[in-house]
Amino acid sequence: MVKIGVLGLQGAVREHVRSIEACGAEAVVIKKVEQLTHVDGLIIPGGESTTMRRLMDKYGFIEPLKQFAREGKPMFGTCAGLIILAKKIVGYDEPHLGLMDITVERNSFGRQRESFEASLTIKGVADDFIGVFIRAPHIVSVGDDVDVLATYEDRIVAARQGQFLGCSFHPELTDDDRMTQYFINMVKEAKE
Ligand code: GLN
Repeated sequence: MVKIGVLGLQGAVREHVRSIEACGAEAVVIKKVEQLTHVDGLIIPGGESTTMRRLMDKYGFIEPLKQFAREGKPMFGTCAGLIILAKKIVGYDEPHLGLMDITVERNSFGRQRESFEASLTIKGVADDFIGVFIRAPHIVSVGDDVDVLATYEDRIVAARQGQFLGCSFHPELTDDDRMTQYFINMVKEAKE
């Protein structure tokens, strides 16, 4: 059985644990750097990217997470987690982990649309997936080897680059676990 870590510093951690377990995999809430060696893949949850970054610095996670990526282990960023993975953030000089070749813009669906749900077609996942968007970012542009998996109103809201998966919405907040299952399959393939 593969073990999936959920970065447990801030945000929607328990919801991802539920979804991972519903898919029949083992979930580990990662609160200390040392725990990273025990998992085969990692989910960086939604929450508030600036707060998460502050805690990542405080607990020394930046370099160990970059090392985790260098080992080829899959990483999945949802909402704030997508921002954490991105190489570029509109309006900021520096990224957080800077791992995935995408440019993201924070809180980009406008104030009047702080949160909403939309039915999405996600390549390789589903053609009727309800995406829950909460102060969501979107992907402004992607590098050549990034595969766009879903768009909403002409904006990219899910993408994959090899071992990296990211989405603007919160796949863990409904009981549709197909996006989580897609990531678990990536982790299984990477482990084999
Ligand atoms: N607006 C948040 C940020 O910029 C992300 C929101 C979320 O994760 N639901 O970090």
